[in-house]
Amino acid sequence: MQNIEKVGIPKDVWVTCPHCEELYYIDRLFYEPNFNDIKLFCPFCHKKFAKEDSPKTWGV
Ligand SMILES: [Zn+2]
Repeated sequence: MQNIEKVGIPKDVWVTCPHCEELYYIDRLFYEPNFNDIKLFCPFCHKKFAKEDSPKTWGV
């Protein structure tokens, strides 16, 4: 488990993939209203998921 407080940068948001439960960060830009229909892409299992499906989210 990574330490969010130390590695998190304000411009990034940490999300958890609902498929493989891996933690990674995305640009805060994805949380702008005009990105609401954009699906997130997991770099670990290569599946797409909606932002609201992330089991845990930090930094929003
Ligand atoms: Zn995944």
